[in-house]
Amino acid sequence: MHTSKYSIQPPEYRTGTAGINRGVLVVLLCGLLCMIGAVTLVANAASSNLVPARPPQPATSNYVPPSTPTNASSPVSQTPTAPDQTSQIAVKPFNYPVFYGNTHLPEIALTFDDGPNPVYTPQILAILRAYHIQATFFDVGYLVKDFPDIVRQEFLQGNSIGNHSWSHPDLTKLSAQGIVSQLVNTSNAIQSVTGTRPTIFRPPYGSFNRVVIAQAFQQNLTTILWNDESHDWTTPGVTVIVHGILTLARNGGIILLHDGGGFRAQTVAALPLIIDALQQRGFTFVTIPQLLHDTAASGKSSP
Ligand code: ZN
Repeated sequence: MHTSKYSIQPPEYRTGTAGINRGVLVVLLCGLLCMIGAVTLVANAASSNLVPARPPQPATSNYVPPSTPTNASSPVSQTPTAPDQTSQIAVKPFNYPVFYGNTHLPEIALTFDDGPNPVYTPQILAILRAYHIQATFFDVGYLVKDFPDIVRQEFLQGNSIGNHSWSHPDLTKLSAQGIVSQLVNTSNAIQSVTGTRPTIFRPPYGSFNRVVIAQAFQQNLTTILWNDESHDWTTPGVTVIVHGILTLARNGGIILLHDGGGFRAQTVAALPLIIDALQQRGFTFVTIPQLLHDTAASGKSSP
Protein backbone atom coordinates (compact mmCIF):
# COMPACT_ATOMS: atom_id res chain seq x y z
CA MET A 1 0.00 0.00 0.00
CA HIS A 2 1.43 3.33 -1.00
CA THR A 3 -0.60 5.09 1.65
CA SER A 4 1.15 3.14 4.37
CA LYS A 5 4.06 5.50 4.00
CA TYR A 6 1.87 8.18 5.55
CA SER A 7 0.41 6.07 8.32
CA ILE A 8 3.03 7.31 10.77
CA GLN A 9 3.56 10.78 9.42
CA PRO A 10 0.48 12.68 8.20
CA PRO A 11 0.93 14.45 4.88
CA GLU A 12 2.15 17.88 5.97
CA TYR A 13 2.73 17.64 9.69
CA ARG A 14 4.16 15.18 12.15
CA THR A 15 2.31 13.89 15.17
CA GLY A 16 5.25 13.50 17.56
CA THR A 17 6.25 16.10 20.13
CA ALA A 18 9.39 16.96 18.23
CA GLY A 19 7.30 17.37 15.13
CA ILE A 20 4.93 19.75 16.89
CA ASN A 21 7.78 21.89 18.14
CA ARG A 22 9.23 21.80 14.73
CA GLY A 23 5.88 22.70 13.26
CA VAL A 24 5.64 25.70 15.56
CA LEU A 25 9.04 26.84 14.38
CA VAL A 26 8.01 26.44 10.78
CA VAL A 27 4.80 28.40 11.42
CA LEU A 28 6.73 31.15 13.18
CA LEU A 29 9.22 31.32 10.34
CA CYS A 30 6.40 31.31 7.83
CA GLY A 31 4.70 34.13 9.70
CA LEU A 32 7.86 36.19 9.71
CA LEU A 33 8.42 35.62 6.02
CA CYS A 34 4.78 36.44 5.31
CA MET A 35 5.15 39.73 7.16
CA ILE A 36 8.27 40.57 5.20
CA GLY A 37 6.50 39.65 2.00
CA ALA A 38 3.45 41.71 2.92
CA VAL A 39 5.59 44.74 3.61
CA THR A 40 7.31 44.25 0.28
CA LEU A 41 4.04 43.88 -1.55
CA VAL A 42 2.53 46.95 0.08
CA ALA A 43 5.64 48.96 -0.70
CA ASN A 44 5.60 47.83 -4.29
CA ALA A 45 1.90 48.50 -4.66
CA ALA A 46 2.30 51.99 -3.28
CA SER A 47 5.01 52.80 -5.78
CA SER A 48 3.63 51.14 -8.87
CA ASN A 49 -0.13 51.81 -9.17
CA LEU A 50 -0.16 48.90 -11.59
CA VAL A 51 -3.39 47.28 -12.59
CA PRO A 52 -2.11 43.86 -13.63
CA ALA A 53 -3.44 42.69 -16.93
CA ARG A 54 -4.76 39.19 -17.06
CA PRO A 55 -6.77 37.24 -19.60
CA PRO A 56 -10.50 37.16 -18.85
CA GLN A 57 -11.71 34.16 -16.92
CA PRO A 58 -14.41 31.85 -18.24
CA ALA A 59 -17.86 33.40 -18.01
CA THR A 60 -19.67 32.35 -14.88
CA SER A 61 -22.70 31.48 -16.98
CA ASN A 62 -20.78 28.51 -18.34
CA TYR A 63 -20.41 26.89 -14.95
CA VAL A 64 -22.30 23.67 -14.49
CA PRO A 65 -21.72 22.97 -10.81
CA PRO A 66 -22.46 19.48 -9.62
CA SER A 67 -25.58 19.40 -7.47
CA THR A 68 -24.07 16.77 -5.21
CA PRO A 69 -20.61 15.33 -4.77
CA THR A 70 -21.94 12.18 -6.41
CA ASN A 71 -21.83 13.94 -9.75
CA ALA A 72 -18.17 14.44 -9.21
CA SER A 73 -17.64 10.71 -9.50
CA SER A 74 -18.64 10.66 -13.14
CA PRO A 75 -16.11 8.99 -15.41
CA VAL A 76 -13.22 11.03 -16.70
CA SER A 77 -13.71 12.19 -20.26
CA GLN A 78 -11.83 10.12 -22.80
CA THR A 79 -11.46 13.11 -25.08
CA PRO A 80 -9.78 15.73 -22.92
CA THR A 81 -9.48 19.22 -24.25
CA ALA A 82 -6.14 20.85 -24.88
CA PRO A 83 -4.36 22.24 -21.81
CA ASP A 84 -5.34 25.73 -20.79
CA GLN A 85 -2.54 28.09 -21.68
CA THR A 86 -2.52 29.66 -18.24
CA SER A 87 -1.09 26.47 -16.73
CA GLN A 88 1.93 26.67 -18.99
CA ILE A 89 2.95 30.22 -18.13
CA ALA A 90 6.71 30.52 -17.84
CA VAL A 91 7.81 32.42 -14.77
CA LYS A 92 11.42 32.82 -13.70
CA PRO A 93 12.08 30.84 -10.53
CA PHE A 94 12.11 32.72 -7.24
CA ASN A 95 14.91 32.00 -4.77
CA TYR A 96 12.61 32.49 -1.79
CA PRO A 97 9.51 30.63 -0.66
CA VAL A 98 6.14 31.94 -1.79
CA PHE A 99 3.18 31.82 0.59
CA TYR A 100 0.66 33.84 -1.41
CA GLY A 101 0.28 35.90 -4.55
CA ASN A 102 -0.93 39.36 -5.45
CA THR A 103 -3.00 40.68 -2.55
CA HIS A 104 -4.58 43.27 -4.83
CA LEU A 105 -6.24 40.72 -7.09
CA PRO A 106 -9.33 38.68 -6.18
CA GLU A 107 -7.74 35.47 -7.36
CA ILE A 108 -6.98 32.36 -5.39
CA ALA A 109 -5.15 29.09 -6.06
CA LEU A 110 -6.40 25.66 -5.10
CA THR A 111 -3.53 23.23 -4.52
CA PHE A 112 -3.70 19.50 -3.89
CA ASP A 113 -0.80 17.55 -2.37
CA ASP A 114 0.27 13.92 -2.09
CA GLY A 115 -1.36 12.52 -5.23
CA PRO A 116 -1.91 11.23 -7.75
CA ASN A 117 -4.41 8.93 -6.04
CA PRO A 118 -6.47 6.46 -8.08
CA VAL A 119 -9.57 6.97 -5.90
CA TYR A 120 -9.72 10.67 -5.06
CA THR A 121 -7.81 12.49 -7.78
CA PRO A 122 -10.27 11.55 -10.57
CA GLN A 123 -13.14 12.79 -8.36
CA ILE A 124 -11.39 16.10 -7.77
CA LEU A 125 -10.63 16.41 -11.48
CA ALA A 126 -14.30 15.86 -12.28
CA ILE A 127 -15.30 18.67 -9.91
CA LEU A 128 -12.73 21.05 -11.39
CA ARG A 129 -13.95 20.14 -14.86
CA ALA A 130 -17.58 20.74 -13.90
CA TYR A 131 -16.70 24.23 -12.70
CA HIS A 132 -14.39 24.92 -15.65
CA ILE A 133 -11.56 25.89 -13.32
CA GLN A 134 -7.94 24.86 -12.96
CA ALA A 135 -5.91 24.01 -9.88
CA THR A 136 -2.38 22.89 -9.05
CA PHE A 137 -1.36 19.36 -8.11
CA PHE A 138 1.86 18.83 -6.18
CA ASP A 139 2.49 15.23 -7.11
CA VAL A 140 4.75 12.66 -5.42
CA GLY A 141 7.29 11.22 -7.86
CA TYR A 142 6.85 7.51 -7.23
CA LEU A 143 3.09 7.91 -7.54
CA VAL A 144 3.55 9.72 -10.85
CA LYS A 145 5.39 6.61 -12.01
CA ASP A 146 2.62 4.35 -10.70
CA PHE A 147 -0.35 6.37 -12.00
CA PRO A 148 0.81 8.25 -15.11
CA ASP A 149 -2.66 8.34 -16.69
CA ILE A 150 -4.03 10.35 -13.77
CA VAL A 151 -1.19 12.85 -14.02
CA ARG A 152 -1.78 13.10 -17.74
CA GLN A 153 -5.44 13.86 -17.07
CA GLU A 154 -4.48 16.55 -14.55
CA PHE A 155 -2.33 18.15 -17.23
CA LEU A 156 -4.81 17.80 -20.08
CA GLN A 157 -7.45 19.64 -18.08
CA GLY A 158 -5.16 22.64 -17.88
CA ASN A 159 -4.07 22.13 -14.30
CA SER A 160 -0.52 22.84 -13.25
CA ILE A 161 1.66 19.98 -12.03
CA GLY A 162 4.17 20.68 -9.27
CA ASN A 163 7.01 18.66 -7.74
CA HIS A 164 6.34 17.27 -4.23
CA SER A 165 9.52 15.17 -4.01
CA TRP A 166 9.95 11.52 -4.98
CA SER A 167 9.09 9.72 -1.73
CA HIS A 168 7.82 12.48 0.58
CA PRO A 169 10.73 12.71 3.05
CA ASP A 170 11.54 15.65 5.28
CA LEU A 171 14.04 17.24 2.92
CA THR A 172 15.75 19.21 5.70
CA LYS A 173 17.06 15.85 6.97
CA LEU A 174 18.74 15.01 3.66
CA SER A 175 22.09 16.02 2.18
CA ALA A 176 22.13 18.52 -0.65
CA GLN A 177 22.71 15.63 -3.04
CA GLY A 178 19.79 13.75 -1.52
CA ILE A 179 17.55 16.75 -2.04
CA VAL A 180 18.67 17.08 -5.65
CA SER A 181 17.91 13.41 -6.25
CA GLN A 182 14.39 13.79 -4.84
CA LEU A 183 13.74 16.86 -6.99
CA VAL A 184 15.31 15.73 -10.25
CA ASN A 185 13.79 12.25 -10.28
CA THR A 186 10.34 13.73 -9.71
CA SER A 187 10.71 16.45 -12.33
CA ASN A 188 11.92 13.79 -14.77
CA ALA A 189 8.89 11.61 -14.04
CA ILE A 190 6.45 14.49 -14.50
CA GLN A 191 8.15 15.60 -17.70
CA SER A 192 8.09 12.07 -19.10
CA VAL A 193 4.33 11.92 -18.58
CA THR A 194 3.25 15.45 -19.53
CA GLY A 195 6.06 16.61 -21.76
CA THR A 196 6.46 19.64 -19.53
CA ARG A 197 9.03 20.06 -16.78
CA PRO A 198 7.57 21.47 -13.56
CA THR A 199 8.61 24.95 -12.42
CA ILE A 200 7.10 24.80 -8.94
CA PHE A 201 7.84 22.67 -5.91
CA ARG A 202 6.26 22.16 -2.51
CA PRO A 203 8.39 20.61 0.24
CA PRO A 204 6.79 17.67 2.07
CA TYR A 205 5.37 18.71 5.46
CA GLY A 206 6.02 22.31 4.44
CA SER A 207 9.48 21.64 5.87
CA PHE A 208 12.28 23.68 4.36
CA ASN A 209 15.52 25.47 5.09
CA ARG A 210 17.97 27.52 3.07
CA VAL A 211 19.53 24.43 1.51
CA VAL A 212 16.17 23.12 0.33
CA ILE A 213 15.21 26.48 -1.17
CA ALA A 214 18.60 26.86 -2.85
CA GLN A 215 18.62 23.35 -4.33
CA ALA A 216 15.08 23.83 -5.65
CA PHE A 217 16.10 27.14 -7.19
CA GLN A 218 19.07 25.49 -8.88
CA GLN A 219 16.61 23.06 -10.44
CA ASN A 220 14.55 26.01 -11.71
CA LEU A 221 11.86 25.32 -9.13
CA THR A 222 10.13 27.98 -7.06
CA THR A 223 9.24 26.76 -3.58
CA ILE A 224 5.51 27.17 -2.93
CA LEU A 225 3.97 27.09 0.54
CA TRP A 226 0.43 28.25 1.41
CA ASN A 227 -1.54 30.64 3.60
CA ASP A 228 -4.93 28.90 3.75
CA GLU A 229 -5.58 25.41 5.06
CA SER A 230 -7.89 23.59 7.43
CA HIS A 231 -5.95 20.39 8.09
CA ASP A 232 -8.17 18.33 5.80
CA TRP A 233 -5.71 15.44 6.20
CA THR A 234 -6.91 15.01 9.82
CA THR A 235 -10.43 14.34 8.46
CA PRO A 236 -12.12 16.86 10.79
CA GLY A 237 -15.41 16.73 8.87
CA VAL A 238 -16.63 18.49 5.75
CA THR A 239 -18.06 21.47 7.63
CA VAL A 240 -14.82 22.13 9.48
CA ILE A 241 -12.77 21.86 6.29
CA VAL A 242 -15.03 24.28 4.41
CA HIS A 243 -15.29 26.77 7.26
CA GLY A 244 -11.56 26.82 7.85
CA ILE A 245 -10.71 27.42 4.21
CA LEU A 246 -13.35 30.15 3.78
CA THR A 247 -12.26 31.93 6.95
CA LEU A 248 -8.67 32.28 5.71
CA ALA A 249 -9.51 32.97 2.05
CA ARG A 250 -8.15 36.27 0.77
CA ASN A 251 -6.80 37.96 -2.34
CA GLY A 252 -3.85 36.05 -3.77
CA GLY A 253 -4.41 33.18 -1.38
CA ILE A 254 -2.90 29.72 -1.77
CA ILE A 255 -5.19 26.99 -0.45
CA LEU A 256 -3.71 23.68 0.70
CA LEU A 257 -5.81 20.53 0.32
CA HIS A 258 -4.88 16.88 -0.21
CA ASP A 259 -5.92 14.42 -2.92
CA GLY A 260 -3.68 11.62 -1.64
CA GLY A 261 -1.93 10.21 1.40
CA GLY A 262 -4.99 8.79 3.13
CA PHE A 263 -8.79 8.98 3.36
CA ARG A 264 -9.77 12.08 1.36
CA ALA A 265 -13.54 11.69 0.84
CA GLN A 266 -14.14 14.69 3.12
CA THR A 267 -11.88 16.86 1.01
CA VAL A 268 -13.72 15.75 -2.13
CA ALA A 269 -17.08 16.55 -0.54
CA ALA A 270 -15.86 19.92 0.71
CA LEU A 271 -14.47 21.05 -2.63
CA PRO A 272 -17.72 22.08 -4.42
CA LEU A 273 -18.84 23.97 -1.32
CA ILE A 274 -15.51 25.83 -1.18
CA ILE A 275 -15.61 26.67 -4.88
CA ASP A 276 -19.23 27.85 -4.76
CA ALA A 277 -18.64 30.09 -1.75
CA LEU A 278 -15.45 31.65 -3.09
CA GLN A 279 -16.99 32.31 -6.48
CA GLN A 280 -19.91 34.02 -4.78
CA ARG A 281 -17.37 36.20 -2.99
CA GLY A 282 -15.94 37.22 -6.35
CA PHE A 283 -12.77 35.14 -6.43
CA THR A 284 -11.48 33.56 -9.61
CA PHE A 285 -9.35 30.42 -9.48
CA VAL A 286 -5.87 30.43 -10.95
CA THR A 287 -2.99 28.00 -11.16
CA ILE A 288 0.18 28.69 -9.19
CA PRO A 289 2.13 29.73 -12.33
CA GLN A 290 -0.64 32.22 -13.10
CA LEU A 291 -0.56 33.45 -9.52
CA LEU A 292 3.23 33.91 -9.69
CA HIS A 293 2.92 35.69 -13.01
CA ASP A 294 0.35 38.09 -11.57
CA THR A 295 2.53 38.65 -8.50
CA ALA A 296 5.53 39.53 -10.65
CA ALA A 297 3.29 41.80 -12.77
CA SER A 298 2.35 43.74 -9.65
CA GLY A 299 5.91 44.98 -9.31
CA LYS A 300 7.30 42.38 -6.92
CA SER A 301 10.71 41.67 -8.33
CA SER A 302 11.75 38.19 -9.28
CA PRO A 303 15.39 37.20 -9.39
ZN1 ZN B 1 2.70 16.20 1.25
